[in-house]
Amino acid sequence: MDVHNALLSSRDETIRTLVDLVRVPSVGGTQAEGEIVRHVAGLLAAEGVETDLWQIPVAELAARPDFPGMEVERSEAWGLVARLPGTGGGRTLMFNGHLDVVPPGDLSTWSDDPFSGRVADGHVYGRGACDMKGGFAAALAALLALHRSGTRLPGDVLLAAVVGEEDGGLGTYATLDRGWRADACVITEPTALDVLAANGGALTFRLRVPGLAAHACARTSGVSAVEKFQLVFPVLRALEASRNRSVDPMMRRWDIAYPLEIGTVRAGDWASTVPDLLVAEGRFGVALDEPVDEARAAFERTVAEACAADPWLKEHPVTVEWWGGQFASGRCPSGTDLVRRVLDAHTSTHAGSPFAAEPAVVGAPYGSDLRLLTNIGGIPAVQYGPGVGYGHCPDEKVSIEQVHACSATLVNLALAF
Ligand SMILES: [Zn+2]
Repeated sequence: MDVHNALLSSRDETIRTLVDLVRVPSVGGTQAEGEIVRHVAGLLAAEGVETDLWQIPVAELAARPDFPGMEVERSEAWGLVARLPGTGGGRTLMFNGHLDVVPPGDLSTWSDDPFSGRVADGHVYGRGACDMKGGFAAALAALLALHRSGTRLPGDVLLAAVVGEEDGGLGTYATLDRGWRADACVITEPTALDVLAANGGALTFRLRVPGLAAHACARTSGVSAVEKFQLVFPVLRALEASRNRSVDPMMRRWDIAYPLEIGTVRAGDWASTVPDLLVAEGRFGVALDEPVDEARAAFERTVAEACAADPWLKEHPVTVEWWGGQFASGRCPSGTDLVRRVLDAHTSTHAGSPFAAEPAVVGAPYGSDLRLLTNIGGIPAVQYGPGVGYGHCPDEKVSIEQVHACSATLVNLALAF
């Protein structure tokens, strides 16, 4: 059987595999995050595909200066790379997909169990269906079709199954640390089959705004940390505006290319006490080609200037802590042929179909493993995968037709690569 027939005849199986993956609630930091990696390793081993399954030395990697960050506790984590060996002399192509998902959030906002894997109206539903088990299933299907058809390419084809993507990039960092490299990588994150060739970065921060406690009945003898935070917040909004006045052409489709948002605010510990501390956490967007150090310095300078303008904060300045996910920005190097090859593979695969139009080449305002592959691994990388939006929402879903279309493109990309 040739590779195209192998792919066609596995369509139903691909969706069953996707449903099985969605049913594993592989939220970052849970036991299931490890289970799903071992589940996929079992699938590959049963097919006779060469795999490298290893336990990631989490604590050791987390202590490195270039570690990309982690926002949940993990006692263990697993790495997995499947490899179809080439006959020699060719270039190595990697597919990369993460198997961790974000929590489902408020269950009352879902119309069904978030991990149902329900199939309806041409979609698979559930947390992670779009981000990005649909894309992972597509890459797995492409790899298995190449394997089952006995297609031998000059170069290796790799599939890296990673964890910890949503909270920093532990899995891809560990895969690179393990020594895995390729000449190009396609991350099958949801792009609605456009080619995403750059990511803005995102740095997680924590602000501590000091106040002075007093009984609320004599509040003027204290200093409210909430009031002091109100001096800082608008200054950060202004910083965001100034950093988005002129952006890279690839980022112009977004209303705010590099968002700065405060996601959590906690203050005080008693209803009738003037709050002596406010802790705010958020994410700070990093521009394409902007060094992380410079972005952090701009943020810290802005906070310091806001403090200098207030008598209390001048004496008791707001502190800035960088913690959790530290996503540098990244882009596929312009000198490589990867973007062109993915566009060609897509258009030649889908001529005459609803997906016939050439994909757009865009950048995105969120960080991803792309920057680790390009910045640390020196591997040109793009995102190209099924699904619209970024997941992370109730009733998350992925289009079954897009999953199949992605697989077909990946097979042709591998054949041409
Ligand atoms: Zn994702």
